[in-house]
Amino acid sequence: MIFAEYIWLDGTQPTQSLRSKTRMVRCDAENPEPHDFPDWSFDGSSTSQADGSDSDCALAPVCVVKDPIRGGDSYFVLCEVFNADGSPHTTNMRAGLRAVLNAGALEQDPWIGFEQEYTLMKAGRPLGFPTEGYPGPQGPYYCGIGADRAFGRDTAETHARYCHEAGLLYYGLNAEVMPGQWEFQIGYRGDDRDDPSLLNAADHLWIARYNLHRIAEKAGLIASLENKPIKGDWNGAGMHTNFSTLQTRAEGGINAIREATERLSGRHDDHISVYGHGLADRLTGLHETCSISDFKVGSADRGASIRIPLGVELHGAGYFEDRRPGANADPYQVAARLAATVCEIDDTQ
Ligand code: ADP
Ligand code: MN
Ligand code: MN
Ligand code: MN
Ligand code: MN
Repeated sequence: MIFAEYIWLDGTQPTQSLRSKTRMVRCDAENPEPHDFPDWSFDGSSTSQADGSDSDCALAPVCVVKDPIRGGDSYFVLCEVFNADGSPHTTNMRAGLRAVLNAGALEQDPWIGFEQEYTLMKAGRPLGFPTEGYPGPQGPYYCGIGADRAFGRDTAETHARYCHEAGLLYYGLNAEVMPGQWEFQIGYRGDDRDDPSLLNAADHLWIARYNLHRIAEKAGLIASLENKPIKGDWNGAGMHTNFSTLQTRAEGGINAIREATERLSGRHDDHISVYGHGLADRLTGLHETCSISDFKVGSADRGASIRIPLGVELHGAGYFEDRRPGANADPYQVAARLAATVCEIDDTQ
């Protein structure tokens, strides 16, 4: 018997949270897959997913990776949530992404890379903030080193190691602009043995968030995904999302990118509606953002909604960066909206 940590998304609004519980299972497979783990269930009345009178929700394994926290032959088993009749639960946003992919987006082989920013908090203040007042202004902290500039590196480093040991598509990390703020990336890594497809990368980001919350828990910290944890002249936290398809990566793909951004422009409000709670506090037009009410495309412009990286511009093909999603956005919903719009799939039903 081995430890399996079943992980799923609850029904908390406006932002879903991760939940997990442990089960011992018999598993002889060398590299176990979702079907090697039994379906399970949980009390949906305790997770805002059901009424007490009819409380069972079903868990179906969809992504299995090594559990780096327990180590050894332990696994994380990420699950989708279903109703008793087998239909996807309304909180199951992964099912929506599957639908968009199966409606034709998969044929365009979309790849994704998420940049997850977060803020390490202790007693309601970011690490590096004094108990009263404020630290020195932003400037030295981004990619900074030294005990006066980098706060919480142990947590960020342990997180990197755990994500790597789990076999996630972990790309890198950096200290961010505000003290106590960090970023890691999950998804495309330029290695043809990787699978940076949308379901896989989004699953891995949720598991990476799970690792982060567990590591912070052990350190007595909160890893906040709030969009604007500190009001005023302090950077918010985002989840920049980098996206490409067969067409954008092919020679001359920059034209496909430009056409895609025109379609994205027409869907701005719809996309913003699922890009995270409290986004207006972050998308102000200051602190490397574009105002929530504008849609701007820019080359190498960190004040744009969509940035076309310099290298992509020069190469004439590649990917674009959607800078609008907030740190607390759901990668399934962001990926689904991007795939539907870029690949011209009707997702309005
Ligand atoms: P930034 O300069 O915005 O901070 P990062 O170095 O943090 O950029 O992240 C770059 C991101 O771009 C990574 O998440 C990576 O996965 C993603 N990326 C690079 N190329 C592609 C591609 N062809 N398709 C999708 N994502 C890509
Ligand atoms: Mn019980
Ligand atoms: Mn980045
Ligand atoms: Mn960043
Ligand atoms: Mn970025």
